[in-house]
Amino acid sequence: MAVRIKVVMAMMILTLCCVIAIVPVGKENAAKAAVESASTPAWTWPVPGYTTISSYFGENRSGSIHKGIDIPAPLNTPFVAVEDGVVELAGHASGFGNWIVIKHSTNLYSIYGHMYDDGVYVKPGDTVKKGQIIGAVGSNGESSGPHLHLEACTAVYATPRPCVDPLNYLGTQEQYPKLQYGDTGPYVVKLQTLLEDKGYDVGVIDGDFGSRTKNAVILFQQDNGLTADGIVGQQTWQKLLETTQSSLAKVNVQLNGAAFNPGFYGNGTTYVYWRALDKFKISYTFKGNGIFLIEGRTVQAKIINGGLYIPWNLLSPKMAFKSIAGGFNFIYSVATPINIQLNGKAFNRGYFKNNNAYVYWRALNTLKIPYSFKGNGVFIIGGQKVLAETINGVMYIRWNQLSPGKITYTRITGGYNFIYTP
Ligand SMILES: [Zn+2]
Repeated sequence: MAVRIKVVMAMMILTLCCVIAIVPVGKENAAKAAVESASTPAWTWPVPGYTTISSYFGENRSGSIHKGIDIPAPLNTPFVAVEDGVVELAGHASGFGNWIVIKHSTNLYSIYGHMYDDGVYVKPGDTVKKGQIIGAVGSNGESSGPHLHLEACTAVYATPRPCVDPLNYLGTQEQYPKLQYGDTGPYVVKLQTLLEDKGYDVGVIDGDFGSRTKNAVILFQQDNGLTADGIVGQQTWQKLLETTQSSLAKVNVQLNGAAFNPGFYGNGTTYVYWRALDKFKISYTFKGNGIFLIEGRTVQAKIINGGLYIPWNLLSPKMAFKSIAGGFNFIYSVATPINIQLNGKAFNRGYFKNNNAYVYWRALNTLKIPYSFKGNGVFIIGGQKVLAETINGVMYIRWNQLSPGKITYTRITGGYNFIYTP
């Protein structure tokens, strides 16, 4: 009965939420929150990593007032208690789908909504700590997309439920203002630091949003599929905050079979510590600001954990790799072009390296050798798995792997004539 009354109350009181529209947090909001939170307890941000607010407290919803804020996040994103407290209610509530109500003091409650049944991790009477995971983001009840609805209320069993703006308690630590060219101050320092952490060149971290910082923002936006306008709104902040360095995984790196510095892997690219240039004896000059001149090409290194790292394929076009446990072995060798004939007819050029002749993979077609291509340089030839090597961006197969036992050769000027006998 008691539960039923609460459900009915919730139904009467709840202000429907939840049109997901991204509204930037203006500087005024951040400033307002900062002022108001100066004298109030600071709550922790409830959805770590997701800082966009799609709907604010007090917005008019067809005659009713939005009693909280909406924080979009993917389904099942964990959320946390904003402050120490005791769970007052946890379960179904009309409009909320499910809700969790936590009592923090005699007159302050935090309320969390839209979870599915399996997204409620606490029960009435539980003591919770600030930052403790208490549920998972859902889209249950009156909701048009996955988000957490958060309220700060001074009573739960009153009608209407008296609530205030949760941003009063959330402070500014997760509220970032819109920034653009010409802005200055500590938020610009934060922006520059995040960009540099991710390998984007902002020059000196000076809190001054100049053209270099703008260029870095545009590059970051392009890399992350955002509108590349150089203006840092909530979506750009969110990406900056969520794609941490850990998005680049550490991988093992070997150079010509010998263990090297660990590298990093992300977005399909392996980054190799720049000292590999020395190890491989690849000619280069360093121009400063992460820019290398390698064999006549200008290459921008990426700053990762304070070190300069170069995408492996920019180290030198003469580079190939093999997978090893947890990483890659990079192989640098100067491949010498040689003449190749197939059954006496001139063919594509081949290469000679590491005491082996390499033949352009199309030789399989020309010689009518049955094969299938599995991708990633892997061929199945005569039932055998053969890994082609990339030389100057093209796949080459070691001559004696073209067809084991059925390929022989005779020497010709500057190379070989390969003879296939089915
Ligand atoms: Zn809402």
